[in-house]
Amino acid sequence: MSGLIDDIFAGLEDDDAREREFVQTFAALLPDTELYLLKADGAGLSPAAGADDLEDRFTRADIQAVKETAGPVFFTDCQGRAMVGLAVEELKAVLLAWPPMDDCQSCRALTATMMPNCTAHVLLLMEQKMVRTENEQLQREIKVLNYQHHELIEHNHRQYLLIKEKDRNYARNLESEIAARTEDLERANEELREASRLKSEFLANMSHELRTPMNAIIGFSDLLMDTELNAEQMEYVNTVKQSGDGLLGLINDILDFAKIEAGKLDIVSEPFSLSEIVKNVAAMFMKPANDKKIKLNCLIDERLPATFLGDGNRLKQILINLVGNAMKFTSRGGVSMTVEKVKGQDDWAMLRFMVVDTGIGIPLEQQNAIFEKFTQADGTITRRFGGTGLGLAITCQLVSLMGGRVYLSSVAGQGSTFCFTIKLRLPSAADKTMEAGQQSAATAEDQPLSLRVLLVEDNLVNQRLATIMLQKAGCEVVTAGDGRLALEQLKKGRFDLILMDMQMPNMDGLEATARIRAIESSAEERHDYAGLGGRPVKIVGLSAHARQEDADRARAAGMDDFLTKPIVRSKLLAVLAEAADK
Ligand code: ADP
Repeated sequence: MSGLIDDIFAGLEDDDAREREFVQTFAALLPDTELYLLKADGAGLSPAAGADDLEDRFTRADIQAVKETAGPVFFTDCQGRAMVGLAVEELKAVLLAWPPMDDCQSCRALTATMMPNCTAHVLLLMEQKMVRTENEQLQREIKVLNYQHHELIEHNHRQYLLIKEKDRNYARNLESEIAARTEDLERANEELREASRLKSEFLANMSHELRTPMNAIIGFSDLLMDTELNAEQMEYVNTVKQSGDGLLGLINDILDFAKIEAGKLDIVSEPFSLSEIVKNVAAMFMKPANDKKIKLNCLIDERLPATFLGDGNRLKQILINLVGNAMKFTSRGGVSMTVEKVKGQDDWAMLRFMVVDTGIGIPLEQQNAIFEKFTQADGTITRRFGGTGLGLAITCQLVSLMGGRVYLSSVAGQGSTFCFTIKLRLPSAADKTMEAGQQSAATAEDQPLSLRVLLVEDNLVNQRLATIMLQKAGCEVVTAGDGRLALEQLKKGRFDLILMDMQMPNMDGLEATARIRAIESSAEERHDYAGLGGRPVKIVGLSAHARQEDADRARAAGMDDFLTKPIVRSKLLAVLAEAADK
């Protein structure tokens, strides 16, 4: 049978797999079936039947019905046999005949019952086969997909491991790079710290070295001015003194600048008289203003409290800087300085200071730059007016340490206004009592003080200068060149005050002070020292170093007070007055 079916289908131009399968399945179910294939042109393809034979068996209407129906068509042929017909595509028809049956009745019954079942069965089988094939195909595809999926997972995992490894390497590299860089930075930092320390040390030493001769220049000029001098001599000494003061100002600026760089500029908080400071600054510049024939005015709001708590010396330094600049750059008109309160409460006040001049002014494009260190509005001005370009940088720093800001408004050729604010505390009742005490000590300035002073100083010039200053104040002075010699002097007699230089050969001031304090507290040792006993002797340190840390070290060693060189007469007198009071 299958050979026959192959023959039939081989005769078709387009082999139709589905129809062939249907026919094959059908034929397999009904082995004795006769097959006829009718082509569109009406030619029969069954080798077993010719066209004539077909026409005998099937009516045209049956054939037409098969052609036009999608799916099997059941009918009875001319001879009363059960038939099933199936259209093969649009053009062809396969006609299947049931084996001849004589009994037409049973044939019809068969047609009516079995044939549809059989066909349905065939279709089901076909469907099953198709589904199975599709299923197999799907299984294959699933297998492929599974494989691909697995591959993908494997690939991803490999990638993940690779990335993880890379990450680990990267992190390891990064860590070691960071560690190396941190080490480099720490080394660089250390080097910088060391360089900065060396620089500070150098500046401190330089300032010490410079201050020592300055001490003599300024001190002796002062003493000289107190002697009988003719006008010409007085003018010379005055010039020496002024140059000395100027040089000292410069040294102080450089030292302040070094402190700013090292972040070591400290602001103290002690009672001071605002009007005294402002008037003092005005008085300092009165003579230069008269010489230049320009006006110098100062105006303080009278409602302001007399005393504030803060760093009066630093405030004075700011004002000297600004008024000094205003004077320097003004040749006609004048300079004015005003102070007023901007805001405040019971325990603090924000003050505004204004220094206005009618000088050369500052071009707009230079107004920011001049606040930078070593910067001047015009490089050529240096030669005309002098200066280091440090003043405003220091001023700004000081003002900001005092909780304020500096403002500038200036028009080239017309003048400048420098304005700054600072926040100051107001003294409490307790502070005022303390201050009154200090003032009473200060009023004793000009009375002769018959104190016995031990002056411990290795530099002979400074020794001589301090001796004269002390003698002029009425003191009896005994000198010693170093700490050891001072201790020897203390074996011989009592002193009201010891003025102790810090830096000396053999035994420096700190060691000597510590030694004296140790002797004072040991009853046994005190025996050998006639000068020590009863109350601890007042010791005041002297140093050309003007750093806070030097004052701190002095106090830590047991000194009661600390004076910086060059010795300022008023400060020395205040120290003496206090010693006399004891
Ligand atoms: P110095 O005065 O030592 O040069 P400063 O920092 O005090 O340094 O000032 C920097 C520059 O700012 C001055 O050189 C000057 O060019 C300019 N300047 C400051 N104050 C005035 C002023 N009142 N009038 C004009 N120019 C000023």
